[in-house]
Amino acid sequence: MLRKRIKNKILIIEDSLLNQKMLEDILKDTYSLKKAANAEEAFRILDKSLPDLILLDIVLPDANGFDLLQSFSKNKSTANIPVIIISGLTDEENEEKGFLLGAVDYIKKPFKNAIVKARVATQIQIINNMRDMEKMSFIDSLTEIFNRRAFDIKLQYELGRAAREKSVLSLLMIDVDSFKSYNDKYGHIQGDMMLQAIAIKIKSQLKRSTDVVCRYGGEEFAVILPMVDVDGAITVAENVRCSISQMKVPALFSDAATSITISIGIATQSPTEDFDAQDIIKEADNMLYKAKKAGRNIVKWLN
Ligand code: GH3
Ligand code: MG
Ligand code: MG
Ligand code: MG
Repeated sequence: MLRKRIKNKILIIEDSLLNQKMLEDILKDTYSLKKAANAEEAFRILDKSLPDLILLDIVLPDANGFDLLQSFSKNKSTANIPVIIISGLTDEENEEKGFLLGAVDYIKKPFKNAIVKARVATQIQIINNMRDMEKMSFIDSLTEIFNRRAFDIKLQYELGRAAREKSVLSLLMIDVDSFKSYNDKYGHIQGDMMLQAIAIKIKSQLKRSTDVVCRYGGEEFAVILPMVDVDGAITVAENVRCSISQMKVPALFSDAATSITISIGIATQSPTEDFDAQDIIKEADNMLYKAKKAGRNIVKWLN
């Protein structure tokens, strides 16, 4: 599920060109490297793009590495980038100072290639694992689309953006029709497969990169459509409804083709700065309820 990784980025801040070259030779095959010979250059590079890890020398021509370390941790954009100190200052006081200021490791010069390699790899692995966990905590494990937690955050964000930009936003609440009967007839595992197929089908009907589909709950999905008015939302909802009703999912233990329908409630808002995300959810839910009452396999909106 997680995409293949691109090379992690490392910024080497080191004034000795010899040491720079040695570090480069050790790391260049595995990582994408940027080098700075002084603090000014380092800040210029950090302004443009943030690395995953910083290797920091302490004695630099225009700054002290410890001061740099402090300014990295004070600055929001760099505060979470781990820093490994690589220094010729080998006494314990300086090592302790480095750790106290937030460095994740302290490598003493002259360094052994294998040790630099291993310690850098350890930090990079920690970062990559953390990122994977972060990503996974927003993904529903059955359908591999965004989960409810991601939905709450994304809706809040998009409503805020719509309020600032004085634009419109539509929300589709989708509920699978008579899904209990489907489970009863074909079994829960088949039901899970149907939910996976529905998620893929809904996703395939969304054309804009800003459209987001989430699994809202058991057999409920939500689609956030930023900058889409009610007419646009009806078109999207009808496409989704229609494509699901035409979808055939093979049954697990027989030749039967199974199918299902969904009902959709639409809410459209031009939110003000003091919006409450619950309002648009409630409205879409009400419309969904009307679609169910009207007989299912139907799209409803406020008109
Ligand atoms: P309605 O058309 O009114 O929505 O009928 P319904 O049967 O879909 O609604 P109800 O709320 O009574 O039942 C929802 C069903 O969805 C019950 C539950 O077993 C099933 N369901 C919820 N989550 C999952 C899931 O993760 N996997 C499977 N297989 N079924 C699920
Ligand atoms: Mg130096
Ligand atoms: Mg339901
Ligand atoms: Mg249902």
